[in-house]
Amino acid sequence: MILTLAGGVGAARMLAGLMQVVPHDRLSAVVNVGDDLELHGLRICPDLDTITYTLAGAINPETGWGLVDETWQARTMLEQYGGISWFGLGDRDLGTHLYRTQRLREGADLTTVTAEIARAWGLSIRLLPVTEDALRTRVTLAADDPAGPDSPGLSAGTEISFQEYFVQRHHSVPVSAVRFAGAEEARPAAGVLEAIDAATTVVIAPSNPLVSIAPVLAVPGVRDAVIARREETIAVSPIIAGTALKGPADRLLRELGHEPSVVGIARLHRDLAATLVIDEADADSAAAVEAEGMRCVVAPTIMSTPERAAALARVVIGERP
Ligand code: GDP
Ligand code: CA
Repeated sequence: MILTLAGGVGAARMLAGLMQVVPHDRLSAVVNVGDDLELHGLRICPDLDTITYTLAGAINPETGWGLVDETWQARTMLEQYGGISWFGLGDRDLGTHLYRTQRLREGADLTTVTAEIARAWGLSIRLLPVTEDALRTRVTLAADDPAGPDSPGLSAGTEISFQEYFVQRHHSVPVSAVRFAGAEEARPAAGVLEAIDAATTVVIAPSNPLVSIAPVLAVPGVRDAVIARREETIAVSPIIAGTALKGPADRLLRELGHEPSVVGIARLHRDLAATLVIDEADADSAAAVEAEGMRCVVAPTIMSTPERAAALARVVIGERP
């Protein structure tokens, strides 16, 4: 089994690469739920859905989230009512959230429902939400944020939910703290610790280390389980030449006191992973990464095509090109 610790887009691309080079029934992922939200009475799991839709070949290629060939009639109605419309839920996507919410209400657990949804998309990879319990990433603003068209003004020091930061405020406001509400009481979902223990390789996807990987590790027992597998754990840097390909990872690193570089990534992951894959653009930093106590592999890491994703996957599972 190749087990991947996963956020959203960066992990989805990594898993799509792994699916090309590893039999699908040998792939599993432990996925962040810190981004999850309840909206319109529905349970929405953005990282699980980004992975499922991407691996099914149904992700919207323009946005990187949501479904391809989407329509927005429900959102238009919400706007007409003055309801909450800043979190875009397309008509097709809503079907996923309706199904999930109904199944949870019936008493099914999220792990089971996630497997049902994956199977319905024809996927045989095992997707495990890290916990069944409520774990919610929350963000404290470092500066006043004026009101926008879709968002009220907030003052510095206010704590908001992850999606109010990421989607409603387009992650454009500086942050002074991130915490994972409920993490201390959360328990790993069934199968999570066993999957980490049993994996031949543990992959830390090139996901945001502070808001995608950190909440997964914050569930008691998960970090220790990964540390116990340090020799077999390999991380891929989401930071290339000091910047994130997408999203606020570089800014968040700086704002929260980390170096936005592959060396900063090495410092965050060195207790967990023996090896860090960095991009060719950062080849000059390989020695500095090794000085942090990790083996360093230099490879092309921008998964802009299926071929590039497969090539990176081969590096991750230890096949040399
Ligand atoms: P989110 O939950 O959808 O925001 O996504 P993740 O946390 O999984 O991933 C976001 C991070 O993935 C960003 O920091 C990106 O730089 C990184 N990322 C996205 N695509 C790639 C890629 O092809 N290669 C690498 N190395 N990083 C990527
Ligand atoms: Ca996410």
